[in-house]
This record gives sequence, C-alpha cells and structure tokens, in this order.
Amino acid sequence: MRDAILTARGLEKRFETGGGLLSVPTIIHAVNGVDLDIVQGETFAIVGESGCGKSTLARLLLRLIDPSAGTVTYDGRDLTSLPAGDMRALRSELQFIFQDPFSSLNPRMTVETIVGEPLMVHSRLSRRERRDKVRELLTKVGLRPEHADRYPHEFSGGQRQRICVARALASGPKLLIGDEPVSALDVSVQAQIVNLLEDLKDDFGLTLIVIAHDLSVIRHMADRIAVMYLGEVVELAATEDLFTNPRHPYTRALLSAIPVPVPGDRARPAHLGGDIPSPANPPSGCKFHTRCPHATEICARERPVLTGEGHRTACHHWQDLPPADIGARLDAPRSGTAERRFALYRAAAETRP
Ligand code: SF4
Repeated sequence: MRDAILTARGLEKRFETGGGLLSVPTIIHAVNGVDLDIVQGETFAIVGESGCGKSTLARLLLRLIDPSAGTVTYDGRDLTSLPAGDMRALRSELQFIFQDPFSSLNPRMTVETIVGEPLMVHSRLSRRERRDKVRELLTKVGLRPEHADRYPHEFSGGQRQRICVARALASGPKLLIGDEPVSALDVSVQAQIVNLLEDLKDDFGLTLIVIAHDLSVIRHMADRIAVMYLGEVVELAATEDLFTNPRHPYTRALLSAIPVPVPGDRARPAHLGGDIPSPANPPSGCKFHTRCPHATEICARERPVLTGEGHRTACHHWQDLPPADIGARLDAPRSGTAERRFALYRAAAETRP
C-alpha cells in the first residue's frame, strides 16, 4: 500500500445545542472516534444516510472546523495543532468543493474574479498571467475561455459546479474533498461532473475524498469506501469488495435498498426497521443494534471496533452472517435519491408477509 497523505486518529466532534438558565445543553455526537488513512492518489468515498456525520468529518479532515478530540495529520504535519498562519499557508494544498454550486459562488463577481482570487492569494503571477491561467483552467473543466467574463447566474447548475472545480484547482491543491459534489445537480449532469473529477484527478495528480449518500454514484469512481452510521465508521473496504462482499448489516441494508428497475428482479432487501436514533441520545454498544435484525445481547452492551486487514468491519457477528453479493444485481441503470430508495425499501420491508 502507498503512503497515507492524510491520517485521522480518534477524531471526535461534539456540538452543544440549547441549554439556558433552567436547562442543560444537549450534546450532539456528530463524529465519534474515527480513524482513517487516506492514501496518496486514491479516490476515497465516505457514505451514509443524511445526518450520519460524514460532512462534519469532511470539514474536520481539512480543519475547516476544530475537533473536540483526536488528530488529523497531513503530509506529516498535525493540522489540529498547526498555528493559524501555517494553516493558511497550507490551504492552497487542501481544497473543498461544496454541495451547492448555486450558493457557493458570489453572484456579484465575474468568473474571472472568482477563479482568479486563489491565484492572487497563492501565486505570484502577473495580472496578464493570471488572466491566461483562469482561461486555461476554464478550458480544463470543460468551459470556454470567454466564460470568464460572465456572472454565475448565466450558467446552469452543472456549469457552476465546473466553475467551483476550476476555483478549487486554481491554488494547485494536492487533496480535494467534494461534499456531495453532484447531489444538487440533475441526474443527467451528475455523470459529467463525476467523469470530470476523475479526469482532473489524473491530470493534476490529486487525492480525492468524496462524500456521498448515494452509493451508486460513487461505485464507479471510488477506490475505497468508508460507511458511516451515527458518527462512526462501521465498514471500510475496497469498492468492489464492499459491493460484492458487504459484511456489516447496515452496509447490506444500504446496498439492498437500491431498487433495480429490472423486470423479474426478485431480490429481497435485508431487513432494516425503525428510524435513525438521535445523535443526541445514541444507543449503547453498537449504535446500529436498535435497527439490526442480527442484534444479540452483547450488541447493546459492547461497542464493536473496526477489525480486519484491508476490509475492516465493526460488528460482533459479521463472521456468522451468510455471504451476500448484493453488488451483482446493481449493474443496471438506476434513478432516484438514496433517501427515496431507502424509504421505498423500508416500505417494502414493512409490508412484506
Ligand atoms: Fe448488528 Fe450486533 Fe453487528 Fe451491531 S454488532 S451490526 S447490532 S450484529
């Protein structure tokens, strides 16, 4: 295995909400004891339902927010203890693409200013060189040089996300994190942006971390996937291994929740009942035990830790479960959001005889 460019150890983030003269504040455990090693040059995906803590984890990894506990090491430097000045200098190497390309671009700035801003901060290019560089970057992301003179509102959602990508690339990053970079876009445009990110990753020698709630989007993009549930990583594996040999009951439920619009597909989703527990009052032991069909007494008592080499799973009983190659039935066109699929799946599971 190649060297890790980014390492997280014991990463935790707790948020305090409410509280006052007569009430105690509520503690939300958004991220709870996450260990990760992101390898140089890979595409690493973090997936899970809404509210599982994946976006908070992404922000912690780039120190856009400070952790409550734990460390993040980038290229040998501990980001969590880096002075603000050093962190600012490092920002050019660590870039973030936000989910919503509609709100992340200043409507009063031209594309030239938006993409040129990081060049002003992080490079010593002359005005003329900056102008040329902006146009070169726009071409790289599939836009035209003359687009530099326009404003964000003149572009479609897909084109705006391309502008966001050009802006992220302007500072010469080594690591790029996309927080649901395609989920706000039409399905027809999603594949274009995914392909663009893959091409740019090779061209610019990037390491890519993609946050997603839709497993089908990242299947053909990610080298490895971490599955999160209630702030914890419950399974981590190479992408095809995860799809063809999912071990954790939650991963199995997520995968089998993806309906396949193929006539005659009679695959039965793994059973998953109940709602996601509140992160303010998470279950004891394995946090998934309130919804898991395989839960036993130990599951409510002891928190399982991630174990295994390469393919890692946090479950007391994964070795007792029969194999499940759920990925094979997913090789078909798909549509709809993961939440909708999850809802459909739950409805189907509840009405099952
Ligand atoms: Fe289910 Fe127990 Fe495994 Fe948790 S540890 S996923 S409750 S079997």
